[in-house]
Amino acid sequence: MEASRGCPYHCTFCAKDNFRNTFRRRPIDVVAKELDGLISAGVEYVYFIDEIFLPYRDLLEMVALRGIKFGIQTRIDLWKPDMIDLLGDAGCVSIEAGVESITEQGRYQLAKQSKLSTLEISERLLHAKRRVAFVQANLLDCQADDPIAVEEWRAHLHEHGVWANKPVPLFPYPGSPDYTLRWGKPDDLAWERAHEFYLHQFDSFSDIQDQRPAGLVQLEAAGR
Ligand code: SF4
Repeated sequence: MEASRGCPYHCTFCAKDNFRNTFRRRPIDVVAKELDGLISAGVEYVYFIDEIFLPYRDLLEMVALRGIKFGIQTRIDLWKPDMIDLLGDAGCVSIEAGVESITEQGRYQLAKQSKLSTLEISERLLHAKRRVAFVQANLLDCQADDPIAVEEWRAHLHEHGVWANKPVPLFPYPGSPDYTLRWGKPDDLAWERAHEFYLHQFDSFSDIQDQRPAGLVQLEAAGR
């Protein structure tokens, strides 16, 4: 489901420039009606695919009344502790939180500045874990963070039940500021170009993926 579309931030890596730039909320009664329709069809869990699920009290109170479970993706630094509590009470069981870097410098590089320090962000994540069953902190490899400090931070979070991935390499998504800075406006070969660049630049891609992906051009040729 979507309670909103777009995002008011401009992180360099985020593919939002084309269609998801302006943040706009859907009317709460429309979201409620859609949710009620799903519930009457037997649905017990929904995922809000909003680019950024922001802390709106009216939305959470509406969802809470319906006794459903749901997941979200968000920036945890925008959630004050009382709103995190309300999120848990409303039935949220899964949070994917883009932290991206454990340093101010790294977040600055990715245009993901936060008013909170890394320590405060960690505290918000741990607070969330006390109210929500699954909490994930996403990290990107911005090349600014000390790998030992990253491992220590991940271990600290894991000890408290919050999953933080090994920093993943940045994919220059067509439609992201990063792509535009490198190659200008996306054209018909934008995805092939971005994918080839990504495969050539990195040897490993994620701690839950051992295989090396094939190139897009190769895959497209195989499918003909
Ligand atoms: S990464 Fe998240 S906060 Fe940054 S622009 Fe994209 S949706 Fe917004």
